[in-house]
Amino acid sequence: MPASKNHIIVLASRPVGEPKPDNFRLVERDIEHPGPGEILLKTLWLSLDPYMRGRMSDAKSYAEPVEVGQVMSGGTVSKVIASNNKAFSVGDIVAGSTGWQEYARSNGSGLRKVDPTLAPISTALGILGMPGMTAYTGLLNIGQPKPGETLVVAAASGAVGAVVGQIAKLKGCRVVGIAGGPDKVRYLTEELGFDVGLDHRAADFPAQLRAAVPNGIDIYFENVGGHVWDAVFPLLNKFARIPVCGLIAHYNDSGPRQGIDRLPILMRSILSNRLTLRGYIVGDFAAQTDDFLRDVSGWLKEGKLKYREDIVHGLEKAPEALIGLLKGRNFGKLLVKVADE
Ligand code: NDP
Repeated sequence: MPASKNHIIVLASRPVGEPKPDNFRLVERDIEHPGPGEILLKTLWLSLDPYMRGRMSDAKSYAEPVEVGQVMSGGTVSKVIASNNKAFSVGDIVAGSTGWQEYARSNGSGLRKVDPTLAPISTALGILGMPGMTAYTGLLNIGQPKPGETLVVAAASGAVGAVVGQIAKLKGCRVVGIAGGPDKVRYLTEELGFDVGLDHRAADFPAQLRAAVPNGIDIYFENVGGHVWDAVFPLLNKFARIPVCGLIAHYNDSGPRQGIDRLPILMRSILSNRLTLRGYIVGDFAAQTDDFLRDVSGWLKEGKLKYREDIVHGLEKAPEALIGLLKGRNFGKLLVKVADE
């Protein structure tokens, strides 16, 4: 056994508004030895994702919150370093949800073996993992893209949005991506092949968006909410489809926003324009996992899809990196490299 101590990041307190570094605490504990039927995992990669803000809160949600004092939950790619379980051998690489810690004991449930010959193992947390599956299933099941349609995607340079826009291009759509800042916007058109990239921080962003969609919007892939939704909403075509995937602009809200009640305007538009807004959680489409892995790994191998990773080094950097993600500081799929293989 290479080390005797495990470093773990626990939730120290629940944030009000934006999370702060003191909402997290780094603790040291003895590594738990695997019992009968169990394995010991060394975390190599930790995924940082927007949903983690929700788990820090005890507001009612689709998933249970992390309790104060508990290890922060999170997706990981790990190496098996000890095994009392016939299904796993020392050296196997697995993806699971073992949280913000350097080592984890597991009975193997919820773990999926990762084939390191398919793609770099970190992609099991990105384009070939939960965010890629979110993009694929939400776009194809709810967005239902057709050739010649106009798709707009928010948080377009991120883990989900970049895959949405690229698959929509493969399906023959005209794709407009929205992102924060000139580097991300340039990436959308120059690297990912989107038709238009727009900066939602520009003062005239709503006018730029209107000019970019002369035929209106047939599909809006919603990752953000807030002022981006406000600009998109008046441009939606009749029978537009809106996969409601995420609302990151609101994750730090501590209560309902004040202002005029725009619900009647929204409901009137849903009715008269026959809009389809459907929220979903990626697990709703778990039965499509094999289709996703076949299609997306195939497109990746053929060079039809690109991905970008934003890597921070060391578990102790995870809190600052997650705080930054909620402010748009990441550029690509945000990952923590916890240890070398
Ligand atoms: P990203 O890698 O895209 O990172 C989040 C990005 O959101 C930031 O980089 C930033 O990009 C943008 N952002 C943050 N705050 C704001 C704001 N106030 N206004 C506008 N944009 C903002 O994350 P993911 O691709 O992992 O996730 C994208 C969305 O998908 C999230 O809402 C997430 O919760 C959701 N999601 C939903 C799932 C589901 O099952 N329904 C599963 C996975 C993700 P920029 O600088 O471009 O503004």
